Amino acid sequence: MGSERVLAYYDCSHCPVPLITSALNPNTMTNGPKHTVILGGGFAGLFTALELSGKGRVTLVCDEDHFLFTPMLYEYVSGEVEAWHIAPKYGELLDEDVNWINDAVVEVDLENRLVKLAAGKNLSYDVLVLALGGVTNYAGVEGAEEYSIPFRKLRHADQLRQTMIEALDHVAPDLPPQDVQRALTFVVVGAGASGVELSTKMADLLHDAFKRRALRGESRVLVVEMGDRVVPGMGDEIRTFVEDALLKSHVEVHTLTRVVRVSPNSVTIEHNHQQTEIEAAAVVWTGGVRVNPIIERLSVEKNMRGLIMVEPTLQTRSYENVFALGDIAFYPSATPTLAGTAQLAFQQASLVSDNVAAFLSGGKLKSKHFEELGEAVSLGTERAAVLAGGKAFGGPLARQARFALYTSRLPTWHHRLKVGASWFFEGTEARPLLPLGIQR
Ligand SMILES: Cc1cc2nc3c(=O)[nH]c(=O)nc-3n(C[C@H](O)[C@H](O)[C@H](O)COP(=O)(O)OP(=O)(O)OC[C@H]3O[C@@H](n4cnc5c(N)ncnc54)[C@H](O)[C@@H]3O)c2cc1C
Repeated sequence: MGSERVLAYYDCSHCPVPLITSALNPNTMTNGPKHTVILGGGFAGLFTALELSGKGRVTLVCDEDHFLFTPMLYEYVSGEVEAWHIAPKYGELLDEDVNWINDAVVEVDLENRLVKLAAGKNLSYDVLVLALGGVTNYAGVEGAEEYSIPFRKLRHADQLRQTMIEALDHVAPDLPPQDVQRALTFVVVGAGASGVELSTKMADLLHDAFKRRALRGESRVLVVEMGDRVVPGMGDEIRTFVEDALLKSHVEVHTLTRVVRVSPNSVTIEHNHQQTEIEAAAVVWTGGVRVNPIIERLSVEKNMRGLIMVEPTLQTRSYENVFALGDIAFYPSATPTLAGTAQLAFQQASLVSDNVAAFLSGGKLKSKHFEELGEAVSLGTERAAVLAGGKAFGGPLARQARFALYTSRLPTWHHRLKVGASWFFEGTEARPLLPLGIQR
């Protein structure tokens, strides 16, 4: 998670995979135009809806009113980007050919082809696309769900930024450095791409705030990781840049260390069987993802991790009119490091939309092969690292390249143009952590 890997994909009709041809049963279809219902408006669901727009009756259901370009949630914390850049409203992205419902799915009844929504409505479908994504996995750690801040939504980023400002506001300029540090200690759980991208942003923001507010000493940002290295899912070339950035941003890295408890103002970590309690202004949990609870309750074939087993066509194994993709699906032929990434999800969306159209018209369904081509991580407010074409490069240039790459990945041409122009003309500088009364 947290890495940008550019993918190539190509039609694979020559691949030795069984291709499924649709066989619609007229007895189980709805009346009138065939109805495709897409659950979830993330990378998988939104991009499927955009591609299916104009191809029959399409409904997208999402519990949020906006899409979220998660790879830039760190830049939103630091104020380098604004909410409208990375979280455009569905109403602005979708045209009238897609019916959009802002509600939470509470149950999916696959036998009766019904989706139950929180507001009480039932939706019937001919084809269902499951794209509900994951939720934060606290792995049963005591107090983690209650007292740590997850990092998956805009509101989580808002909460984190607000907590940092409030913590700074409570520190008087004449406080001794050791007391300042105790009051301004932040712990990030997990040193995957999310953990390192977030911790370097936080450290840079705090460093800047110290200068502006003339505080003594420095803050403390820790990253706690159970494994033996940072960004375990990435290659050594990019890890070198990540380690260098962590060092430069003064982020303390604790590998082979696990969090055993989170309480309102502290976190307890364990390393070499020894436990240490650390006072913390906030604990941010980027430690893991699990499948959406709606999917956990669904009776379809799944793997050991609860991911839905899909055919190469992205149909579920149990129901040929039900497709699953993105973070909830296990696609055996994808490169393992691509699992749980946005780009796998959004490229799967193009396959699903083609296959839904083929299924409804009685055509032949296809498969695609997804390949990994590169990685990009933001490292603090000034730098990034990019791996493209087998070559890694870092620094401010990589930061610019990352912004350019992500502009091209945003949904719809119209939104891309607006955001690209805004970044080009108005800049992408971080917004300082000013005292609450004088926020701009
Ligand atoms: C902070 C962060 C940074 C990331 N950075 C990167 C990166 O740099 N590169 C990369 O490749 N990947 C990155 N990822 C991973 C990437 O975001 C996911 O792999 C991708 O979003 C999966 O897409 P999805 O559509 O399956 O799920 P999601 O994007 O999570 O979408 C699921 C959608 O379903 C909706 N939903 C959930 N439950 C319900 C319900 N009950 N009813 C209705 N709607 C519901 C959600 O609101 C959401 O809109 C990052 C993830 C995070 C959290």
